[in-house]
Amino acid sequence: MAVLGPLLRARSSTTISSMASTIRAFSSCSTPNFGNDLKPPSLLAQKPLPLRHDPQDRTVQWVFLGCPGVGKGTYASRLCNLLSVPHIATGDLVREELSSSGPLASQLAEIVNQGKLVSDEIIINLLSKRLEAGEAKGEIGFILDGFPRTIRQAEILEGVMNIDLVINLKLREDALLVKCLGRRICSECGGNYNIASIDIKGENGSPGIYMAPLLPPPHCASKLITRSDDTEEVVKERLRVYKEMTQPVEEFYRSRGKLLEFDLPGGIPESWPKLLQALNLEHYDKKSAAA
Ligand SMILES: [Zn+2]
Repeated sequence: MAVLGPLLRARSSTTISSMASTIRAFSSCSTPNFGNDLKPPSLLAQKPLPLRHDPQDRTVQWVFLGCPGVGKGTYASRLCNLLSVPHIATGDLVREELSSSGPLASQLAEIVNQGKLVSDEIIINLLSKRLEAGEAKGEIGFILDGFPRTIRQAEILEGVMNIDLVINLKLREDALLVKCLGRRICSECGGNYNIASIDIKGENGSPGIYMAPLLPPPHCASKLITRSDDTEEVVKERLRVYKEMTQPVEEFYRSRGKLLEFDLPGGIPESWPKLLQALNLEHYDKKSAAA
């Protein structure tokens, strides 16, 4: 993070055409001793992840990929609590900037309301500010959620730091759409809920999916609102853009042996234990629960 901060700051003020040469220049630099001792994730299947709570020992530098609405935020945030690292969601960074009425706010509002992707420059600018703030607070490691979204962002990231593991969360598209349209936010406390109840029967050998709704407590129930970008039209556009821009990012990490594919078997109660199992973190969870 010590490196990414200044680099991203520098890049955000350079033109796009000069980016490639900057990236090349940084890629050829010797990288600092930063997570270099982590075992490659391709060993995941054979060996437990070498995770430690001690920040002096090793860091977690992970990325969460997956379609909009698949639940990246939920699982990333749970893992962050478990591993004591910050959950950095570029979607949150964008929303914070939107509500800040800063110089980027009106530009962002237009892009987001159309379901389009925010440009690499803007995202990198926001991420850079967030990492610097974290660095100042002494944060070690992170889980990125919503970044990188494009091959170019993935290349920028690779040029400056070692991403240990990329978790690709997957859910079939019909379930995804219903789930996205069921999202609700409490206008008072900001709590996230989902009123969709998904129960798809298994057919032709593929397993069924059951996802219970995540209903609000009574004091929030009358204050639920739908985000303005959660309409069917915008959700479908987000999925289309995701496929076009981000699926190549999956391939980018797959080819480097860093991609862990995870098919969500259902809602949180079904999926969380299986995800921990896939990450060899079940015992970690028990240990931290007992501590
Ligand atoms: Zn509430």
